Amino acid sequence: MNTDRMIIDIPAGAEQILRALRDSGHEAYIVGGCVRDSLLGKTPADWDITTAARPEQVKAVFHKTVDTGIKHGTVTVLMKDGKYEVTTFRTDGVYTDHRHPDEVSFSPDLSEDLKRRDFTVNAMAYSEESGVVDLFGGMADMENRVIRAVGDPGSRFGEDALRMMRAVRFSAQLGYEIDGDTADAIKELSPTLSAVSYERIRDELEKLLVSDHPECVRELSRLGLTAVFLPEFDSMMETAQNNPHHRYTVGEHTIAALCASERDRIIRLAVLLHDIAKPLMKTTDAEGIDHFRGHPKKSAEMAGEILRRLKEDNRTIARVKNLITWHDLRPESDPVSVRKTAAKVGREDLPLLFDVMYADVMGQSEYLQKEKLTRLREVRAEWARIEAAGEPVEIRDLAVTGSDLIAAGVEPGPMVGEKLERLLGRVIEDPSLNTKEELLERL
Ligand code: ATP
Ligand code: MG
Repeated sequence: MNTDRMIIDIPAGAEQILRALRDSGHEAYIVGGCVRDSLLGKTPADWDITTAARPEQVKAVFHKTVDTGIKHGTVTVLMKDGKYEVTTFRTDGVYTDHRHPDEVSFSPDLSEDLKRRDFTVNAMAYSEESGVVDLFGGMADMENRVIRAVGDPGSRFGEDALRMMRAVRFSAQLGYEIDGDTADAIKELSPTLSAVSYERIRDELEKLLVSDHPECVRELSRLGLTAVFLPEFDSMMETAQNNPHHRYTVGEHTIAALCASERDRIIRLAVLLHDIAKPLMKTTDAEGIDHFRGHPKKSAEMAGEILRRLKEDNRTIARVKNLITWHDLRPESDPVSVRKTAAKVGREDLPLLFDVMYADVMGQSEYLQKEKLTRLREVRAEWARIEAAGEPVEIRDLAVTGSDLIAAGVEPGPMVGEKLERLLGRVIEDPSLNTKEELLERL
């Protein structure tokens, strides 16, 4: 690549900011992820700007600004086409806590600002006047598909341990290898990830999971990172499953299932954790076959604990637990079985459950695999028919409400719910019963 000739198509707002800063005598560039993504032909999510101007000077140039991170030199500038973060060139001071610098200082020098960035592919700047400023071989690393720390990997991870997670996350998003020295430093320093908050670790884990390469969780484990925030995953990697349905360890099965699953956050979290209790539940019978009886329920329980540890929101936790609880249900494809499954799982999560089940089968052995997939396809088709026909599968689909029952003489209280459940059971067997008259008659 000839760096001088690269032209990046910058959005109008960012272009105006760069020009206005220059016209006021300040150097300014787009920087970081947006340069990387543009060079890869991807549309950047946001366009960050770096400048020699101090925050006060940035604010003097633009009408509408917000002090987002003044202490760190960041001002958000509001333009017609969106918001842009404009950050003063800075160097980060000493890191005593493996998380953030004790202080930052502004610098007049672009090279100082690029030096503080995590990886070579993230440490490039661009302006129309200067072209791509690539001081650490970011372009070459992109060509060789390598994630490499800027400077000495050990010191950089010592400053901010989250960068170790980011290395694996970018490797998953970009499909790049982590450079040998960078990987060695992660292996050595992985225990220091414990200084980082679970929220920040989780954000990186999720980005990795929904990337094109969720198999990079294997790297998280190999490099000692899951040991810090998800040791249960390492146990899966070590648990063999001698059973005709399986050809992999629990961990490798999970990885294969992740790769076969839809790129959806809830689905991938559920697939990641669907067998998490297997290492604890393993028994081996007289023939030497391994069994994991009761693992779905226990896995759901453990997933709940893990996701709480990772500070997931309650709704995510509930949905992932629901999917894990039912992942091994294996319904028949007749209308009653499918409606019963829908009643257990709920309308909203059922299509996700089918995706989890598909991924699970894809990660198993070839034994009965075709039959399992055919059955699943039939179940999905039957569910599509049930949905289109509007057949009842939840309490709220019933032709009667709690008040109807009370009006008909049912004692207000828990009895109402029990009766509704009972009626739902009836209409799941026979949807034609779902009229007010029929149901009240059956009370
Ligand atoms: P994306 O936004 O697609 O996740 P990105 O590269 O833009 O990727 P951000 O977290 O938005 O990542 O950070 C923007 C830039 O800031 C990065 O490209 C990198 O140069 C720098 N950066 C972010 N986090 C760190 C960090 N922990 N250590 C060093 N530099 C970082
Ligand atoms: Mg970004």
